[in-house]
Amino acid sequence: MIFEWNIQSRAHACSACGKSFSDKQSYHTLLHDERGEMKRLDICDPCWQAQHSNGARERKGFISYWHGIYEAPPPPSDPIQKENAESVLRKLVELKDTKYGAASYILAVMLERKRLLKVKEELVKEGQRVFIYEQPKTGDVFTIVDPNLQLNQLEAVQREVAYLLEHGLNAPAPESASEGTVALAAVPAVEASIPAEREATDGDFRPSTPQEPQTN
Ligand SMILES: [Zn+2]
Repeated sequence: MIFEWNIQSRAHACSACGKSFSDKQSYHTLLHDERGEMKRLDICDPCWQAQHSNGARERKGFISYWHGIYEAPPPPSDPIQKENAESVLRKLVELKDTKYGAASYILAVMLERKRLLKVKEELVKEGQRVFIYEQPKTGDVFTIVDPNLQLNQLEAVQREVAYLLEHGLNAPAPESASEGTVALAAVPAVEASIPAEREATDGDFRPSTPQEPQTN
């Protein structure tokens, strides 16, 4: 498989000239495929104009491009933080363990519904649909492979997601989780969106199509 689940963090400095980005500075992100690995370049305005703007989309391995505004990271927060959908997704993606593929996908869809993640790009690689999501505040990019869930798998995945949200990643697997039924309420966005007939409403629990980046 060419793409795996991964996170591409936004750089804090220009990939070309090395100058640190300042708060509210505009930057350009270029994703490309380098021998099967997704590479990310964050480039300042002057370098973009000088070296990269011409033919970026025609370059070999081009995946996606957008223009963003850098936000300086907030001061480090309280280390004891309750898990939320995003922190769980980060951990799952970092594990790069395919057994969490379905849970990662559902979490990404939940976060997109809450507008905490944006679909930047949707592509098909070796027959698999791949979504590239951006966390707009941090600029981090998550690559999520569509696990092609069947309706009869959804409930188990939702139970897994609810369990992960409640207990985090270090808890034992929810094999006999009777509490899973209760915790299912924790994932209302997805729960409410289970299509009654997958065939009839195909796409209902799928991410929306990529939006043009907003540049204001
Ligand atoms: Zn630069």
